[in-house]
Amino acid sequence: MRLLRIWQSAVLTFCVALTVFLCTGTCRTKKTWPRCFSQEELRKRLTPIQYHVTQEKGTESAFRGEYTDNKEEGTYSCVVCGAPLFTSDKKFDSGSGWPSFFDLIKEDSISLTDDLSYGMHRMEASCSECGAHLGHLFDDGPRPTGKRYCINSASLSFQSKNAGPEGVEPGGATGQSASSSKSDL
Ligand SMILES: [Zn+2]
Repeated sequence: MRLLRIWQSAVLTFCVALTVFLCTGTCRTKKTWPRCFSQEELRKRLTPIQYHVTQEKGTESAFRGEYTDNKEEGTYSCVVCGAPLFTSDKKFDSGSGWPSFFDLIKEDSISLTDDLSYGMHRMEASCSECGAHLGHLFDDGPRPTGKRYCINSASLSFQSKNAGPEGVEPGGATGQSASSSKSDL
């Protein structure tokens, strides 16, 4: 009986350790993030460039990203977890070749860490929800913040403000009933 208990607790400990290992493994960072996704799922769901940028801290080619010149009104969210990050009214043309923003929707939606790669000191910007790599933050942005969030298009998904539900016209049914009530008169 006692042996069984020891065995049970050993199995439990192993399971917990495995879960922790898998979770931190999938997030690929020292820090644990509120939301974790399996690498298998992300490889299926994301395009190769989206996966490379968000999970392997990659950088897309300048001027090649989908949203660099996007002028549409709307919201930019994390492509991995869907957390809203930027709005189009904070986007500006930096000439860098990557989508640039001077402010965030929410102060804590992005986590900043020192990035000393390539012999430079930069601030890496990651999604605070899932740890996805987004880009870098620089201090040469326009007023009023003076910040420039230089973000890969591949880290973002864009929801246009003007995109309504497709197909059914909202008010189509009302229009019909209005015309039928008119014919009744
Ligand atoms: Zn995210």
